[in-house]
Amino acid sequence: MTETLLRGRLLTFHREPAGPEDHAAYSYVEDGAVLVRDGLIAASGEHGHVAATAGDAPVIDHRPHLLMPGFIDAHIHYPQVQIVASWGSQLLDWLNGYTFPAEAEFTNAQHARAMAGRFCDLLTDHGTTTAAAFCSVHASSAEALFAEAADRDMRIVAGKTMMDRNAPDSVLDTPRSSYDDSKALIAAWHGKGRASYAITPRFAITSSPEQMEMAGALAAEHPDCHVQTHLSENHDEIAFTAELYPGARDYLDVYESHGLLGPRTLLGHAIHLKDREIGAISETGSHPVFCPTSNLFLGSGLFDDSGLRARGIRNGIATDIGAGTSYSMLRTLDEGYKILQLQNQQLHALRAFHWVTRGNAEVLGMADRIGTLDAGSEADVVVIDPRATPAMALRMDRAGSLAEELFVIQMMGDDRAIAQTYVAGMPRKRKAHQEAR
Ligand SMILES: [Zn+2]
Repeated sequence: MTETLLRGRLLTFHREPAGPEDHAAYSYVEDGAVLVRDGLIAASGEHGHVAATAGDAPVIDHRPHLLMPGFIDAHIHYPQVQIVASWGSQLLDWLNGYTFPAEAEFTNAQHARAMAGRFCDLLTDHGTTTAAAFCSVHASSAEALFAEAADRDMRIVAGKTMMDRNAPDSVLDTPRSSYDDSKALIAAWHGKGRASYAITPRFAITSSPEQMEMAGALAAEHPDCHVQTHLSENHDEIAFTAELYPGARDYLDVYESHGLLGPRTLLGHAIHLKDREIGAISETGSHPVFCPTSNLFLGSGLFDDSGLRARGIRNGIATDIGAGTSYSMLRTLDEGYKILQLQNQQLHALRAFHWVTRGNAEVLGMADRIGTLDAGSEADVVVIDPRATPAMALRMDRAGSLAEELFVIQMMGDDRAIAQTYVAGMPRKRKAHQEAR
């Protein structure tokens, strides 16, 4: 048995705060502690109480930093680590010009393994302890990511993309091979350690109706797997989808008619939606995923968070690397706040930090395991330094409340504010000189 006592200021959410004054939605402990035992949280709360149960467990004192559950990224592409910040185009040209050539290299298992390792390290450097990740079309790319995550005992949701048309041959499979490869990966990895499989048709444009049927068959055969894809990100994409699926009522219907919607379905972007689509997303309990830095970078549009929430929909939030421009969920919240401001919508700090922790855990159906500091949860913990930069420290001198402090972290923080990241109780944040290599 291995035990560690982490001491610091604790913040964890019990549910989504209804507003900035909803203090019952969270627990904040000024002198708190988390007792980690064999990768799980054995106890958390007031330091005095928790320490009394800790015996002679070694103590890591993070005061005055904040301990929160590790961040969760609900939509990200690991084969795009080397095309982040590629200049000059909107979605379809960006895919053809940058994404597909980069993803073609992932047929090389050695390259895939190296990139998967770098990807996992970058996530934890930025305070992210779980991601729902797209791999390339190659089964070996998914193997590589699952293996690297397993080496770190990191909770991961991932799948090989299914794509059989409208892309270069080097990144295409077939309906049959996509089914067989996904099936084999599910058998090898789903439920193994902290891994979950996501059935991953890239989007309507790159999957034939025959392949969508195969994706639907996989979802029916494996109802405990996630489904992840993209929806209505860009107007040209929507028009092309309508041409390719003339019988579909709308874009969402391509997925809906193939049995791909449900509470385990993650729909990246979901920006330009028709009323019928919003109704169907709500009825099926599917989850749109807001990708702020990506939507701004590709000029895709403004995500209608309030409009969807008003229809009873639970949205995720994500970086969407590599169209997104930062691995940081703090930068993501910063840009998300601004996108909502442009629509007279508000993202207060309590809701923001709930969103990237317990909120995304609920979207993934995993709030019983991650996204909280409650006893019994997996010990994924991020340690935040609210004074990480001179500008933040100067601003913090005037922060008079927890909400104000959190808002400054949300708007000014990045990976420098991540003092440490624990994955299943193990410290994973690299020093700056290690990152640079
Ligand atoms: Zn994406």
